[in-house]
Amino acid sequence: MELLKTREELQSWVNNRSSRPRALVPTMGALHQGHASLIDAAVKLVDSGDVLTTIFVNPTQFGPNEDFASYPRRLEADLTLCESHGSTAVFAPEAYHIYDSNSSVSIHESKLSRRWCGASRPGHFDGVCTVVAKLFLLAQPNTAVFGEKDFQQLAVIQRLTRDLNFPVEIVGCPTVREADGLAMSSRNTYLSEEERAAAPILHRTLRSVANDISRGKFPSPEVAREEIIERISSETLARIDYVDVVDSDSLEPLDSFDNHLPRLLAAVFFGNIRLIDNVGAPQSIR
Ligand code: AMP
Repeated sequence: MELLKTREELQSWVNNRSSRPRALVPTMGALHQGHASLIDAAVKLVDSGDVLTTIFVNPTQFGPNEDFASYPRRLEADLTLCESHGSTAVFAPEAYHIYDSNSSVSIHESKLSRRWCGASRPGHFDGVCTVVAKLFLLAQPNTAVFGEKDFQQLAVIQRLTRDLNFPVEIVGCPTVREADGLAMSSRNTYLSEEERAAAPILHRTLRSVANDISRGKFPSPEVAREEIIERISSETLARIDYVDVVDSDSLEPLDSFDNHLPRLLAAVFFGNIRLIDNVGAPQSIR
């Protein structure tokens, strides 16, 4: 496995291997089994081609009061995980290799980003779109793999790819969870013991309400949403940022379940740590 630290190193690696199919797995590092599952999927997708994992804590997707400075960074352990899962190369640049100090052009997504994580984190998805577009241009992948864990991000990236005509196939992979259902996240390590014990209520509630939606228990998405809010609020350590029931494809909030595949989205603070999760209700009988 090759470690590429600069834009020039990446570009010459890409030029030397231009005939091989290439899958890109963008991450911010502090890798866990969720990231590993994306690398595994990428290895299968490119067959005998290349898998390029990127490790970059992207400054432009963090707000001024967010955890950019304290975001976990552990490159050595990350490289071991990448190699053991079959990554051909890792691109781990410093920020100045990606952003010129006086850069003035960025990408703005204006529809899907308005709600939920986009509303709670102004500018976040523009930072995501800008860095992903840069990685697509530098790495020229055929395929790029992302997690459904960040469901809104996956939709935004699909839109970015469609609207800017990137010749890249976007592949989404299911969320990998801890034994108690908590979605794996690099931020989980910051939870106190009590917060960690409380956090599974997020997935437990979404899963259970999704099952009840599929069984036709709720007359409307709004009632399902209220049920999620009530159940999560019963946990004193939880503070809800948002909860919504949306259409899986358009991400529009639902007024009714008719002819929709509902997706339940939520972001909840446990102490200062904001966790997101989402669950589909696929077997809706309506
Ligand atoms: P991050 O390093 O958190 O920016 O995530 C990099 C990629 O890994 C994104 O596509 C995430 O959606 C994905 N990812 C993060 N956590 C998980 C998980 N628990 N299961 C599957 N994919 C994940």
